[in-house]
Amino acid sequence: MEMTMRTFAMTGGARGIGAELRRQLQAQGHKVISVDIKQGDIVADLSTDAGRQTAIDGVRGLAPDGLDGFIPCAGLPPVAKPLSLIARVNYFAVVATVVGLRDLLEKKKGSVLLVSSNSAPMIATDDAFVQACLAGDEDAACAEIDARDGHTAYAGSKRAMTLWMRRHVVEYATTGVRVNAVAPGITMTPLTDQVFADETYGSAMKEFGDMVPVGNTAQPEDIANVMRFMLSEEASYVCGSVFFVDGGSDAMLRADDF
Ligand code: NAD
Repeated sequence: MEMTMRTFAMTGGARGIGAELRRQLQAQGHKVISVDIKQGDIVADLSTDAGRQTAIDGVRGLAPDGLDGFIPCAGLPPVAKPLSLIARVNYFAVVATVVGLRDLLEKKKGSVLLVSSNSAPMIATDDAFVQACLAGDEDAACAEIDARDGHTAYAGSKRAMTLWMRRHVVEYATTGVRVNAVAPGITMTPLTDQVFADETYGSAMKEFGDMVPVGNTAQPEDIANVMRFMLSEEASYVCGSVFFVDGGSDAMLRADDF
């Protein structure tokens, strides 16, 4: 049971999974600072350096005493154009904001909850795009992905983000900050509506949705419920985990791995 009021910051809190998590945390009496591109406590375009700095400065101003949690939830779908925008928002903005807010998290021994995807395991670690992301070379990653495809951009950005997390778990834990990732399956949000409506990806995604082992795609609350738990005191020993919340899809695709 959580009784104390805690302070969280998130990106992408305006709609979809982020909006549902924001609603749930606020309903528990917590303070939630939301960064988003058009509406939020802080309005910033996370695809740019200036926007990332606005986000970091804005959160600092509103949470000077520190953060109990940071959830960089903003993300773009595989159908976003140009594809480099996906790299910028789904990978580089996530790393920049986590790094930029790290000391605020240390102040309160808070935790970071990244939003990966059940598509992340679909791209190999040695993929050139994933490697360019992990090397921190935004220009190279953007040039590479603009010549590739939306699936690689999306799943590759999530793969790289999740690997970035795994590589930093020990370092962050040493200063009292847990870092974890939730990996949702197909969830009925405006992002998924965009993908379902797409000529290239729509029918394949709908077919994948029909194959989810539990029999249906997720609603935002299915994901937010688990995220809220991962951010809670009850999850204080959860550190470095990638938690698939995907109705069994990852197990279906990778039965011999975990
Ligand atoms: P959504 O499109 O409904 O919401 C995404 C939010 O991010 C929006 O509020 C949007 O304004 C914000 N955003 C996008 N670009 C931004 C930018 N440049 N600057 C600031 N804010 C920006 O999407 P969702 O489905 O709720 O997805 C939330 C997260 O969950 C994303 O990271 C997504 O990749 C991930 N995810 C979603 C699914 C799914 O099926 N919906 C599955 C796995 C992972």
